[in-house]
Amino acid sequence: MMLELKRDDLFVTKSYINGQWLDGDEHFNVVNPSTGDVIAQVADLGKDGAEKAVAAAKAAFPAWAAKPAKERSAILRKWADLILKHKDDLGKIMTLEQGKPLAEAIGEVAYGAAFVEWFAEEGKRAYGDIIPRPADGTRILAMKQPVGVCAMITPWNFPSAMITRKMPPALAVGCTVVSKPAEATPLSALALAVLAEEAGFPKGVINIVPTDHSSDVGKVFCESKDVKKLSFTGSTKVGKILMKQCAGTVKKLSLELGGNAPFIVFDDADLDKAVDGLIAGKFRNCGQVCIAPNRVFVDAKIYDDFAGKLTAKVKALKAGDGFDSSSDLGPLINDDGFEKVKAHLEDAVSNGAKVLIGGEAHSKGGTFYQPTVLTDMTPEMKIYSEETFGPIAALFKFTDVDEVIKMANDTNYGLASYFYANDLARVWKVSEALEYGMVGVNTGRISNEVAPFGGVKESGFGREGSKYGIDDYLEIKAVHLGGMDE
Ligand code: ADP
Repeated sequence: MMLELKRDDLFVTKSYINGQWLDGDEHFNVVNPSTGDVIAQVADLGKDGAEKAVAAAKAAFPAWAAKPAKERSAILRKWADLILKHKDDLGKIMTLEQGKPLAEAIGEVAYGAAFVEWFAEEGKRAYGDIIPRPADGTRILAMKQPVGVCAMITPWNFPSAMITRKMPPALAVGCTVVSKPAEATPLSALALAVLAEEAGFPKGVINIVPTDHSSDVGKVFCESKDVKKLSFTGSTKVGKILMKQCAGTVKKLSLELGGNAPFIVFDDADLDKAVDGLIAGKFRNCGQVCIAPNRVFVDAKIYDDFAGKLTAKVKALKAGDGFDSSSDLGPLINDDGFEKVKAHLEDAVSNGAKVLIGGEAHSKGGTFYQPTVLTDMTPEMKIYSEETFGPIAALFKFTDVDEVIKMANDTNYGLASYFYANDLARVWKVSEALEYGMVGVNTGRISNEVAPFGGVKESGFGREGSKYGIDDYLEIKAVHLGGMDE
């Protein structure tokens, strides 16, 4: 399929290293998950490319770190403006490689741009402290300095925003960046790099190395002494591998890993709002979201009512090609994603779950799956303990507040959680009791640039967005001055 872009030059298939667009002998295919068509063959510079990128980022670091924060901020601000100006083109590129509906893709681009703008400002406020002196003749200050070259490995489910959420805090404080986008979705990353170059980032400050040899490139990033920090968003399994690989250099880490979000509906909740919140969270991006509700716990008193309302609304959802404006959800990213959803469904049904709607592959074929509602779920089923990453809303029944808190926390994960309730004491108690990095109370919307995003337990550590997001890219140096009593 040929894309109609206002700026054809945003569709790039080369690596971006040290300010140069590099092709190589090896290439890998990028496929449109909606049609199965090969849409691009992207240069794969592999391990060599990764090493060149690290060297470029290392060389660019001193001058970039030495720039006044205001100058770095102006470049970031320009990048944000360019991303917004070209959000339709960036959205089209994303829909082509990722499959999500175009409106959702454009929404993601704008969401990501908000982080670029936010950190353009925050970079100016990376204040240190002057500490009250403990003895005569001394002064102590805590100085904040950029950590250095930062590596970033990002997933395919948000091909644009995971990059625009990670890079800006690093860049704003003076770090330089080497980045490996997911092999399924390198085009969005490269398009962002075109705009970054246009915004005026000096050569070597941002480097992008797409590859089909993720583990080779990952190893270079993790094992390099010149890379001072790794920020990763992806599965807990890969996060653990990277963490081990980073041990040799005691590298700083930010990990945003898998989730298994509970979504609790109490009997005093506004059911219609809860249904809408669940649909928005569960079916967005075809359920391929680390903060998507995975286990829906509904009070027995309202269970049937809630299930009925939910099913009626899910019935109206239409799966289809992302470029068809009537599509509410696109395909799953690939066969592995599809097989996992299918396996979770079969496991649940064979153990007694009931299908209220959906429950099968979609008649469109490929990796399309019907939006699905399951009831009669039990903790023995896979969906209770594993992230499904697909369009299945699985309803569990509960009768008691303490019981549901216990079930909600009965997982190794701790990223997002949600509940709907109106009693104030209950809202407070449950918010405190949930062992998660984020809690949505009467809302499914928990991510924006002003709030800290991140997890606890095996969902990782580090925070993106907010005033806290910048700390992940700063070292604190204590400077002790003696002889100050003259
Ligand atoms: P997902 O389930 O979202 O595909 P992954 O953890 O497999 O999660 O992928 C997230 C990112 O991690 C992608 O960019 C992928 O290429 C990369 N990745 C996967 N395996 C490795 C590895 N062994 N080393 C480095 N990066 C990896």
